[in-house]
Amino acid sequence: MRLERISWKKAEAYFKTHDIAVIPVGSIENHGSHLALGTDFLVPSRIAEQIDRESDVLILPAVPYGVADSHMGFAGTISLGYDGLLLVMRRICQQLYGYGVRRFVFLNGHGGNDGVLQEVGVELNGKGAISAIVNWWQLAGELDPAWKGGHGGGEETAAMMAIDTDLVHMEDYLPLEPQDLSDTLICNGMVGVKLDGIPVTIPRLFKHRSPGGWFGPDDPRDATVEWGEAMLSACGDFIVKFIEEFKKARLPEVLL
Ligand SMILES: [Zn+2]
Repeated sequence: MRLERISWKKAEAYFKTHDIAVIPVGSIENHGSHLALGTDFLVPSRIAEQIDRESDVLILPAVPYGVADSHMGFAGTISLGYDGLLLVMRRICQQLYGYGVRRFVFLNGHGGNDGVLQEVGVELNGKGAISAIVNWWQLAGELDPAWKGGHGGGEETAAMMAIDTDLVHMEDYLPLEPQDLSDTLICNGMVGVKLDGIPVTIPRLFKHRSPGGWFGPDDPRDATVEWGEAMLSACGDFIVKFIEEFKKARLPEVLL
């Protein structure tokens, strides 16, 4: 059931008999020169379509913006920042709570949103509610290690190909050029560097880490529509199953 499609009468009836809602959350940000800026909300929105077909649950419209400060410097990136997303998510959740929702499923498309969702989730927990943060790209990697990916790599490219091939612009593809800090401080994925094999976290703008805007290990050129379709439907299957179990989870005592 999609909130934007039903009347308040139908919403009222839903809240009388249900206490669960799904909130897709994304970001408008660089995903490499080959992927649409809306990747992080378009993928959860697509998974939400399957959940809507297969679950009896209220699904909110996706929150398209998130915490994308580290992608500043790439044209078109729009970030609400931590405080902005916290305000938006708190307001949405407070109002759902007022309607009786006690189980929140955050269907998240962007790692930068994680801290906000954790904070809102803990606040809700003190009020007798529970939340689940489902990071689809991590879920995909758990379901099949071959699907595991970085940022704007094969995993997200495959997902976007499955949604609409017009969202993938391989004609603009740039090769990965990880920016080491020196001859000895070598780029270690998206979080920092390694010295003598030991990782050290180095906060940097993504553009300083990877000028093209994507990071592997998964290469966008390996993505296929078939990969994307299999991955998205497997994620949807798991979340549908999770929602049924989450409906039966014990609610906590009210402490705040
Ligand atoms: Zn993404």
